[in-house]
Amino acid sequence: MTQKPIDILGLTCRLCVRLAAARGVPRPEAIAAYRRAFRTGRPDVDWISLPQVTIGESLAEGNTMKLGLTLGDGRETECVVLPQSSRTGRPRNTLCLSAQIGCARGCVFCQTARMGLVRSLTAAEIVAQWHTARFSLGTDISNIVFMGMGEPLDNLDEVIQAIRIFADHDGPAIPASRISVSTVGLPRSIARLATLAKEPGLRRLGLAVSLNAPNDEVRSRLMPVNRIAPMAVLREAMLAWPVGNRGRILIEYVLIPGVNDAPEHAKQLGDYLRPLKCTLNVIPYNPTGDLPWPSPRPEQVGRFIDRVIDYGILVKRRRTIGRSISGACGQLAGRRVGSGVR
Ligand code: SF4
Repeated sequence: MTQKPIDILGLTCRLCVRLAAARGVPRPEAIAAYRRAFRTGRPDVDWISLPQVTIGESLAEGNTMKLGLTLGDGRETECVVLPQSSRTGRPRNTLCLSAQIGCARGCVFCQTARMGLVRSLTAAEIVAQWHTARFSLGTDISNIVFMGMGEPLDNLDEVIQAIRIFADHDGPAIPASRISVSTVGLPRSIARLATLAKEPGLRRLGLAVSLNAPNDEVRSRLMPVNRIAPMAVLREAMLAWPVGNRGRILIEYVLIPGVNDAPEHAKQLGDYLRPLKCTLNVIPYNPTGDLPWPSPRPEQVGRFIDRVIDYGILVKRRRTIGRSISGACGQLAGRRVGSGVR
C-alpha cells in the first residue's frame, strides 16, 4: 500500500527527518527537501505534500493586503500583510496570522468575536498562511505577529509548534525576536509561553497583551476574560515574562471614545503599567458593524497619549492602516460573520 505523503508545513526539520527515515529516506535528502519546501516553496519530492490552501477573496489598501484563505475542509481563514519601514528605512513586511477561525473570547469591540469559535487551526494551517503569502504572493516576510482571528493561547500547542517551525534554521528561519504572540491575557498560558521563550533559539520571542482598559470595571465590560483573570493576576504573569535586556512587552490599548479615554483612565493606566518593562501601543478604535462607538478624533488620541506619557510610560501610536479592508485590529471576521465557511 502506498503511504500518504507527509504534510510538511506542520513539521520542524527534525521531525520531518524522523518521519522520512521511517520511509527509508536518507537524512541529507530529507533535510534538502525540507529546505526546498520552505525556501523555494516546492519540495520537489513525492513523499512530501503541502496542505491544500487556496487564495479566496483578497483585498488591498495601499500596500496592505488581506488574504482570504480556503482550507482543506472548505473553512476560511484570513491573514494580513502589513508593510512597515524599519529603522534603517528598508521595507519590511509583517504578516498578521490567524490562530483560529472565529474566537470564543467575546471581546465586545471585536468583529471576530461575533463569529464565535468555529475551530482552531493546526500548526500546518498556521504555517500555510506564511507559505501562501511568501510563495503565492511572492512577499518577503520579515516579522510574524499572531494577531489575526482567534486567541492564540486558546490554541497554544499548535501555536508553539508553528513558532518552532517559523524559527527553524532549515525552514523559514525567522528570528524569535521577530515573532510575537498577542493575547487577551491568560496568565497560565502566558507562563507556558514564557517557558518556550527561555529555550535557546527562541529567546526574545515577543509578547503583546491586549489590555484595552485602565481598571477591572472597564475591562470586564469590554473583555469577558477579565472576569476570570483580573488585571492584577495578569500583571503578575507579565512581570514573570522573560523580557531580556532589550525586550519590552507590547501593551495594546484600543482607544474608544467615552469608554476608556478619560483623564483618570490615563492615570490608572500609568499606575498599572509602571512596574512593567513595556511599550503602550494606542490603537484608535476602528468602527465595525453596528457597534455604537465612533473612532476617536486625532486630537483625542493625542491628548490621551500625552497624559500617559506624563505618567512615565513609553507610548507609540499605531497607524490605522487597513481600515477600509477590515484588516485593522479586531476586524478580521470573514466575509460573513457567524459562518466562517463557504
Ligand atoms: S480581540 Fe482577539 S481575543 Fe478578543 S474576541 Fe477578538 S480575536 Fe478574540
